[in-house]
Amino acid sequence: MTIPIAPIYPWQTNVFDGFIKSCKSLKSHHAIMLTGLSNIGKIKLAYHMAKSVLCKNTQGNNACQKCDSCLQFDNNSHPDFHQITPPTYKQKTVGIEQIRQTNKQIINKSFYGGYQIFLISIQSITTEAANAFLKSLEEPSDKTIIILICDNKHKILPTIISRCLLFNIKTPNKNDLINYYSSQYESIFAHNFNRPALIEKAIGNKNYNNIRHNFFKNFFLFINDNISLEYICKITTDENLEPIMMEFVHSIIMDILLTITGIESAKITNQDFISDITKNHRKYNKLKIIQLLKYINYIRSISQDSLNTDTLHREIFARIILAFNETFA
Ligand SMILES: [Zn+2]
Repeated sequence: MTIPIAPIYPWQTNVFDGFIKSCKSLKSHHAIMLTGLSNIGKIKLAYHMAKSVLCKNTQGNNACQKCDSCLQFDNNSHPDFHQITPPTYKQKTVGIEQIRQTNKQIINKSFYGGYQIFLISIQSITTEAANAFLKSLEEPSDKTIIILICDNKHKILPTIISRCLLFNIKTPNKNDLINYYSSQYESIFAHNFNRPALIEKAIGNKNYNNIRHNFFKNFFLFINDNISLEYICKITTDENLEPIMMEFVHSIIMDILLTITGIESAKITNQDFISDITKNHRKYNKLKIIQLLKYINYIRSISQDSLNTDTLHREIFARIILAFNETFA
């Protein structure tokens, strides 16, 4: 399973920056607690925090998204990131045995010699386990950061709370939400060429933003020779995402062409990837990009005229990817 991380919610950036600052400071707390109502994105925020602390090449406070550490984090295989969750779906609590194991891990040095991070949803642990965890909170080993997540701090042992630096995660207000979602929807409208049936399909897919973000991230990794094309194809076909990916490929190629031809950057659809789009524009061959775009348009028109079968979409996607490989190879 991969860890899907869409960008940080804009109303959480203050907390995120505050956390990174406290990590950089010598007096940094080793244990922090993110508290706030359920379903407001505390775990997602904790992933961002952990990824950024582990990143080998941070850009300001943010993870670079490209180094080995970031890639391992995304693949849920970073040896210095430990998320402690109940062992099975049925068993909803973290028990004392798991915490004893965690205590042992905390004493050990990190795998890469940098920070190691432990993430625990504190209300899922039994009182007995919570008591066993106090020692780790009190005497942490060097370069260990413990992030606790909590929906209701009144249910947590005061001895745990007193050992943590608390971050209250606020529930966004209506204006925050309207601003955030209208910009998201704007890009969904643009990607789907203002066609309501396509837009509804995209909005109906809860993961749309994550899928889009991961696809473009991988697209630029591929262009910069950091990952293989097979990898992009695999994640696409594993999840049956060919139709949606075709639209993404089209919109990013269109953006690259606009950049090469010197059109003002405000016209670019994928504004959140603008630095990736513009950074490499000199290395693209304009003629090849135009040919690729023509080909994609042709292929898309075939797919729209035909019955929408999965097999057809898969074949069409494969053809686009092949053309794409020739263009950027
Ligand atoms: Zn990184």
